[in-house]
Amino acid sequence: MKEKAKTGAEPKSRSRYDELKRMLEDRRREIQAEVQGKMRDVRADGAWGGKLNEVLDAVESSEADIQDEIEFALIQMKSETLNKINDALVRLEQGDYGNCFDCGEEIAEKRLRALPFAVRCKSCEEAREVAEQRERQVAARRGASSLFLDM
Ligand SMILES: [Zn+2]
Repeated sequence: MKEKAKTGAEPKSRSRYDELKRMLEDRRREIQAEVQGKMRDVRADGAWGGKLNEVLDAVESSEADIQDEIEFALIQMKSETLNKINDALVRLEQGDYGNCFDCGEEIAEKRLRALPFAVRCKSCEEAREVAEQRERQVAARRGASSLFLDM
């Protein structure tokens, strides 16, 4: 699979930089809003005061604790993603973001939109998957033949 649609002499690296930057910043804003929303929810529990506490007491507080833990884990996960996005933005500034780890070619923008932290281009990733699959098959065959020999 060839994905080299070089479109002549437009100032494409600049617009690509802008596009990727916008993409990462949009995503960051999205996640930040989610995290802030969740934090607000957690805090709202306290602010709601008596009325909610009555309900919670009735429901059983351990369930609420579990809920809090899930929320907390979610917030933690999101903030890790935020860190990754910040890293990606730093790498973008340095010109290291969006290039394939294996072949050094630019990773298609479409792919980066779907997988912002992809480190390989589509064809390298596919080649890698095929290689891994082949390795597994060879290993499985070897396993089967040694099983046969053991008999
Ligand atoms: Zn590649």
